[in-house]
Amino acid sequence: MNIHEYQAKQLFKLYGIPVPEGSPAETAGHAEQVARELGGNAWVVKAQVHAGGRGKAGGVHIAKSLDEITEFSRKLLGTRLVTQQTGAEGLPVETLYVEKAGQIDREFYLSALVDRGSERVIFIASAAGGMDIEEVAEKTPDRIISFQVDPAAGLQPYQCRKVAFAFGLESTQFKSLEKIMAGIYKLLLEKDAGQIEINPLVTTNSGELVAVDAKINFDDNAVAVHPDITAMRDPGQEDEKEHKAQQFGLNYITLDGSIGCMVNGAGLAMATMDLVKLKGGSPANFLDVGGGTNTEKVAEAFKLILADPNVKAVLVNIFGGIVKCDVIAEGILAAVKEVSVKVPVVVRLEGTNAEAGRTLLRESGLNLVAADDLAKAAEQVVALAEGV
Ligand code: GDP
Ligand code: MN
Repeated sequence: MNIHEYQAKQLFKLYGIPVPEGSPAETAGHAEQVARELGGNAWVVKAQVHAGGRGKAGGVHIAKSLDEITEFSRKLLGTRLVTQQTGAEGLPVETLYVEKAGQIDREFYLSALVDRGSERVIFIASAAGGMDIEEVAEKTPDRIISFQVDPAAGLQPYQCRKVAFAFGLESTQFKSLEKIMAGIYKLLLEKDAGQIEINPLVTTNSGELVAVDAKINFDDNAVAVHPDITAMRDPGQEDEKEHKAQQFGLNYITLDGSIGCMVNGAGLAMATMDLVKLKGGSPANFLDVGGGTNTEKVAEAFKLILADPNVKAVLVNIFGGIVKCDVIAEGILAAVKEVSVKVPVVVRLEGTNAEAGRTLLRESGLNLVAADDLAKAAEQVVALAEGV
């Protein structure tokens, strides 16, 4: 789960990581009022979307007057911001963050993340931070350093000094970098974050270290035990279908293919997607309806699949073990009563109550293609999706 920059900065404050003074605003009037209350003569107004690359996409503006804030806010609020990280449809800008603009001297990159490969928390840092970090990673990877933290020993002062040297900091700044890195590490562990990224971490003209940007991603499987983090969820920034699926306890992930897949069990779902690929098709989603499913859940799952305009054909692949095939069939029929099915549906039911399930579907009068061989079912659905 992702959160907004302003929320990440609230957490930074709690963990002793310095951030500029600021407040979120949802209207142009409120944005101007925030700036007035902050005082000063320059402010940064930033679109709050769950994606980076805002600076290059016109989502970050340095304003020298209150009028400029109003103008920029009016222009941006209610639109969708398209950045390199959002895809063509962009993300809705419903909130802005207004901060006092600081005098930036240098921009660094600093992040910590759970590295699956080494099964450790690793830190990544670069003196060449800022909006072109992707290019730095691609063209001059030697300008990026990284190291693991031993979970038993924790983050060590010498590791922080290594980063301080890489940044070329003055010795008077070492302590504050150490404090920032310790804060990041503690926050990552205590709140079950998967990644915390500060890009840029800056030095100001007066030599202070400040986190000018903040991105935190949390482990979805841990969010439920952190009510404070759960409360930061912004469904407006999330895939609508995935959000709906979550409410019904379905494991659903949108993909960009044309074949909707409804499968029980994550393993079988993966295998089904592989098979669809092997037969030359491309899945429109991953969906595991789960073991202890019921008619209502299956109906919701089927509706979700059909709601995707990219879906040209659907493959239902159920191996009834704990899930009973007749429950799946009833779910499909319940969904079909509410929404019309305009695409071909290939159904393969096997296992517990398979015959009862097939009978229900056959007698429904729906235009379904029954299949009992999985490889053939995949072939059929690919052909149907292509209109063959
Ligand atoms: P991103 O493009 O989505 O990563 O958004 P950032 O928050 O990183 O902002 C983009 C860029 O705007 C930063 O790299 C800075 O160069 C600049 N910026 C952001 N905040 C300030 C600020 O307070 N003062 C100044 N001068 N520049 C800022
Ligand atoms: Mn940034």
